[in-house]
Amino acid sequence: MAIDANKPYDDENIFAKILRGEIPSKKVYEDEWAYAFHDIAPQAPLHILVIPKGRYVSWNDFSASASSEEIAGFVRAVGKIARDHDLVEPGYRLLANVGENGGQEVPHFHIHLFGGKPLGRMISA
Ligand code: AMP
Repeated sequence: MAIDANKPYDDENIFAKILRGEIPSKKVYEDEWAYAFHDIAPQAPLHILVIPKGRYVSWNDFSASASSEEIAGFVRAVGKIARDHDLVEPGYRLLANVGENGGQEVPHFHIHLFGGKPLGRMISA
């Protein structure tokens, strides 16, 4: 079920548990600012989730409340992960679902990184 992106951060959300190592994940990258792992239900040949280490519910929360260092560190991590997976050519897609209309299900901000095949045009609703 989609979440309310304006709710306070819930420390029991599944990505918080992954960050604490309480739930296993297939890690692809980690640094001071970001943790990345394979999506459990991939929607493309490569489907990676990148999450900030900080406690942010959504893109809305992150863009409004994260420090400049957190934002820069996170954005650079996303770019590095794509480069490390040789995705710059032929290209890839980034996606952030926000709140109910965005279809966000996990209330810890995350970027979906898709690659490995032509991804078509935008969205189908
Ligand atoms: P969203 O709808 O943007 O909140 O996306 C949540 C994503 O998290 C979905 O693509 C799920 O497949 C993925 N997901 C949920 N639980 C796990 C998990 N334990 N490990 C990896 N990915 C997960």
